[in-house]
Amino acid sequence: MKMAMETRILVIPFPIQGHLNPMLQLSKRLVSKGLKVTLVSTNSSLKPNNIISSIDFEFINDGFDAELNPETFDEYIKCFKVVFPQNLAKFMESRKSLGFPFKFVVYDSGMPWMLDVARDLGLDGAPFFTQSCAVNAVYYHLDQGTLKVPSEGCSVALPSMPLLGSDDLPTLVYETDSRQSLRELIVNQMLNIHEPNWILCNTFDKLEEELDQRFHQNTWTRDWRNDNDYGLSLFKPYSETCKTWLDSKAINSVVYVSFGSLAAVGEEQMAEIAWGLRRSNSFFLWVVRESESQKLPKNFSEETSDKGLVVSWSPQLEVLAHKSVGCFMTHCGWNSTLEALSLGVPMVAIPQWTDQTTNAKYVEDVWQVGVRVKVNEKGIVTREEIEVCIREVMEGGRSKDFRRNSEKWKELAKEAVDEGGSSDKNLEEFVAAIVST
Ligand code: UDP
Repeated sequence: MKMAMETRILVIPFPIQGHLNPMLQLSKRLVSKGLKVTLVSTNSSLKPNNIISSIDFEFINDGFDAELNPETFDEYIKCFKVVFPQNLAKFMESRKSLGFPFKFVVYDSGMPWMLDVARDLGLDGAPFFTQSCAVNAVYYHLDQGTLKVPSEGCSVALPSMPLLGSDDLPTLVYETDSRQSLRELIVNQMLNIHEPNWILCNTFDKLEEELDQRFHQNTWTRDWRNDNDYGLSLFKPYSETCKTWLDSKAINSVVYVSFGSLAAVGEEQMAEIAWGLRRSNSFFLWVVRESESQKLPKNFSEETSDKGLVVSWSPQLEVLAHKSVGCFMTHCGWNSTLEALSLGVPMVAIPQWTDQTTNAKYVEDVWQVGVRVKVNEKGIVTREEIEVCIREVMEGGRSKDFRRNSEKWKELAKEAVDEGGSSDKNLEEFVAAIVST
């Protein structure tokens, strides 16, 4: 594809870890198909620890810098929505006047207004949805008024989806959620959904086969076999420590535990998780971010050093790909869920908020690769429950089924990204269309 070598596009994620990762991975795939990619982040977001050479990075001012940090997410979004597109448009204009114009913009679906910014500059654009197609469909129905949000304990039936209980729906569908600007950002993803000519989804065809075609255009997933390095981690991973520790453990003997980059659990919940892990008697590798570490029970790490390793950030793909990891206790962020599915690791789902609840429903009931913990009447997952769930996935009656199903999804994910697979073909088609316009 000679022409493609000269085609440069912009990729614009919302500047948080869970959005940077998949959009960087997409960028790498687009580069491998012949496009030149400039990936945009913001001045105020944490600086990446490591970058990769095949992609250009550009940091645009979003109105905040190290001295002027936003007090709240609401304040950040308010300013971001005004300042970022202005500066971005200036940057795009300047590249054009220097004779290096961009041809296309792939933007985070959380910024639907990006399509207008692109079109004002004579470019076309496509949103990239970082969440599952199932969750996209839920937000779509919410936007269209075809989702009647059920009250507590009730369920709702949506086309091509399992019956969703009130606690299976993404938490942000509830207007009572106090994080209003986040809710707005998420729900507004669907604002102009019928306008773009392309929609990119972070999934693969077989995984969400049943769902609305609208969200099935140009699905893709990552080729994990050759690419365990994100290249844009906002936290410092303890790679060698994790690897050496995992190397010393038997096959499928370790529970890997992580709640991603944002979720914060209460102190009481943290203690229940800690002692639940201890009671399970499995080895565990637990990611507790620095901001969460003071919630750990006193002396926990010392008292459990024969069984566990606690780190503030891990090289997650390498960990999940390691043969000693037998189970992933996860908050079910979409990246983590997709990573576990693509690497064949069964899960204990312990969702916290946003789309994690819906992902957990699919993990347990649709893909059947693990169990979801039960929350007690006080809103806590007890240590006994943690122990039972870990044992069920690691060694219980259904553990073989979970492992078999996980292997199946891993194979299907590989097929999708292999040359000629569904994701690969979709990307080829997408790139060819950009190049030929
Ligand atoms: N991650 C990582 N190391 C960790 C924890 C998480 O590299 O110790 C990565 C993980 O592989 C995933 C991302 O951070 O790609 C978290 O995204 P996810 O959607 O799972 O959760 P979020 O952070 O958005 O809640």
